[in-house]
Amino acid sequence: MNDHFDVTAAPNSAALFARASRVTPGGVNSPVRAFRSVGGTPRFMSSGRGAYITDADGKEYVDLVGSWGPMILGHSHPDVIAAVRAAVDRGLSFGTPGVGEVALGEEIVARVAPVEQVRLVSSGTEATMSAIRLARGFTGRPKILKFAGCYHGHVDALLASAGSGVATFALPDSAGVTRSTTAEVIVVPYNDIEAVRAAFAAEPGVIAAVITEAAAANMGVVPPLDGFNAELASIAHADGALLISDEVMTGFRLSRSGMFGLDGARQGWTPDLMTFGKVIGGGLPVGAFGGRADVMSLLAPLGPVYQAGTLSGNPIATAAGLANLQGCTDDLYRHLDATALALGDLASAALAAAGVPHRLQRAGNLFSIFFGPDEVRNYDDARRQNTTAFAAFFHSMLDAGVYLPPSAYEAWFVSGAHDDTALARIADALPAAAQAAASQLV
Ligand SMILES: *Cc1c(COP(=O)(O)O)cnc(C)c1O
Repeated sequence: MNDHFDVTAAPNSAALFARASRVTPGGVNSPVRAFRSVGGTPRFMSSGRGAYITDADGKEYVDLVGSWGPMILGHSHPDVIAAVRAAVDRGLSFGTPGVGEVALGEEIVARVAPVEQVRLVSSGTEATMSAIRLARGFTGRPKILKFAGCYHGHVDALLASAGSGVATFALPDSAGVTRSTTAEVIVVPYNDIEAVRAAFAAEPGVIAAVITEAAAANMGVVPPLDGFNAELASIAHADGALLISDEVMTGFRLSRSGMFGLDGARQGWTPDLMTFGKVIGGGLPVGAFGGRADVMSLLAPLGPVYQAGTLSGNPIATAAGLANLQGCTDDLYRHLDATALALGDLASAALAAAGVPHRLQRAGNLFSIFFGPDEVRNYDDARRQNTTAFAAFFHSMLDAGVYLPPSAYEAWFVSGAHDDTALARIADALPAAAQAAASQLV
């Protein structure tokens, strides 16, 4: 499926990709950017403003990736840019405590009730890695339970998937991850509360924590079944284990307090630890983990669980993050919800008109479309979709100036800058893309 799409459509991107491929493995610094699952030449972006990004060939796209979430206000938002400029003028990094990180910590704690204390790191990966270390340190237990298809960054222990048919025996998902690492990880299907119950029953008092995406959105969007997160909390707590709710993607996107605000606050469950990233950096590298003060107080320098970072709480990054969060008002969430609702419906209607079997799934204002007829509740379901049809759809949209996530397993992201003009451009592109997808059905 590779080359027939667009080798000459983007000559400057193609040249950059060739240069990049000489000095960087696969030409990219994070794999999904390489377009491997859709084929063709990855577009190298040179600027972004509002709902639009422009590539090295000068072509403009309506952006539905938003840097995978951080650009919730749109690209180059004036308030974020101004905060970064002001911070730059004061100096780039001190390696001491600073003013900006206090303000960002306070903003996070003020928004998310279960977070009594928070520590800043520089990526979502660092956040989840630190959270599982802390959970193990707090409980004195070795094992972690995770869900197949949930992504928590490239932490060794969390790059584990279920061995076929044997839900409680995790296998490394990547070369270089040892079996002894994944031996301490239990992987069960998402949305399968009985599998969770069975895992705890098989090994009582051994599991330090359950880690889950608050709403799964890295296998496409797969919302938790009603009551699933609440049950997770109660099963974990009954055994003395912690619940880690990974809100790196959903945090501060689905509501002021993320998925917790939509689900936890309503259903009365509380995670012990939460992880964040993406939106809290405003486009600069920031992650965070936080939660119960009695758990967080085990971190160095107060306690025995070591965790550190030369650039943690960096003044430029925290300035960008704080300005981004301050733009995340009730009005913004109303706009995101309405825009995501309209856009999902538009895409679904276009696919239906072209006769493409698909399933639109939402978790708040995050959504994705599975190219298959059935509801998706877990990773096995997600993998039944027709990725060839998605690739054709993706490339038709790209040609028409709409930048979708280059994988059928990713959520679509809208921003405060996606207005009627941007939606109209997407709407114009959809019928032909739906036809392209239909042409791949055999
Ligand atoms: C993106 C993501 C991560 C990893 O964050 P990075 O900043 O890429 O390391 C972890 N968990 C979830 C749910 C994510 O979406």
